[in-house]
Amino acid sequence: MTTPPVFAARATYRNLPVYDPADPPVAIRLADNTSPFGMPPAALQALRDGTHDALAQYPSAYARPLAQAFASYVGVRPEEVLVTAGSDEALSCTFRGLAEPGAVVAHMDPTFVMARVFAATNSVVPVAVPVTPELDADADALLAIRPALTYLCSPNNPTGSIVSAAALGRILESSPGIVLVDEAYAEFSGTNLARQAPAHGRMLVFRTLSKAFGMAGLRVGFAVGAAGLIRELEKARGPYTVSALSEHAATCALRDDVAWVRRGAALIAQYRDGFVESLRSAGFHPLPSAANFVLIPMADTARVAQALASKGILVRSFTGLPRIGDALRISIAAPEVMEQVLVSLREAVSCA
Ligand code: PMP
Repeated sequence: MTTPPVFAARATYRNLPVYDPADPPVAIRLADNTSPFGMPPAALQALRDGTHDALAQYPSAYARPLAQAFASYVGVRPEEVLVTAGSDEALSCTFRGLAEPGAVVAHMDPTFVMARVFAATNSVVPVAVPVTPELDADADALLAIRPALTYLCSPNNPTGSIVSAAALGRILESSPGIVLVDEAYAEFSGTNLARQAPAHGRMLVFRTLSKAFGMAGLRVGFAVGAAGLIRELEKARGPYTVSALSEHAATCALRDDVAWVRRGAALIAQYRDGFVESLRSAGFHPLPSAANFVLIPMADTARVAQALASKGILVRSFTGLPRIGDALRISIAAPEVMEQVLVSLREAVSCA
């Protein structure tokens, strides 16, 4: 006798693998594009001081005091900001709050892998649109799909390239649906598309404290857009998802340490340019990057990544990226660390 199944997952989940990236204990982690400088001092101090008895109570329902701080950081009004548990949550809320199940989400490809995962887990349908030969978003091809939502990422993960003003302008002007721009790496490129989102009306920009702000472990991000869109996203998000500790630390970082964060991001950009130059001198062909990582197209990436891991260096290996092929993505840290990476890379490649 066969036992009847005890449950059936929603159809969109059945063939979806659990996203569980390799996380071996290594000395040098350059796989997640986090900050080598750690948390802003004011955030660290806030956590060390603790919040006394406040954690026996729920946090504020929608972290509105923090939304106010984010609003002044990017130059919009507080009601144009949704605070979330990482920008991952903002993306996920958008897919379930602003599109019907089965609606199409067009996304540039390659891009942030979680965009299509969150699309699928929220029962919308991701459609990949390869980037142009210049690695820009392909405005015509994205528009031709007439999607409910269009996902762009600028600077784009993993290429490091910026979506051109021409492509973005075309998409914003002609897209019938909502245009999402993931600006997780904005501090490294010095861009601020978030500021123009509310006035557009159908544009949402996602930001995070996980990268330049060095606070990935606290899980804080935000979305910026017209107040009406943000209200719908609040419904999709639900109350209390950002912990009181995270809100407290983030508020202190925004109050006291924006200049510290900007100095760190400028240093990383400088280290990145130095690393790109050393890679080129060593015969590699890294793509130009506006973010805190570099993508290096090369053969045999799994073996090279493994060789680096054996030296205690964790990087991200990609295979079959549209327009690029196989490549390694390496986050930027201090020059002495990058020097070590370069030595290990040269060894790994010469051993092929
Ligand atoms: N967007 C992009 C482009 C990213 O690369 C990442 C993290 N790798 C995220 C969003 C998610 O960031 P968070 O930690 O804020 O969820």
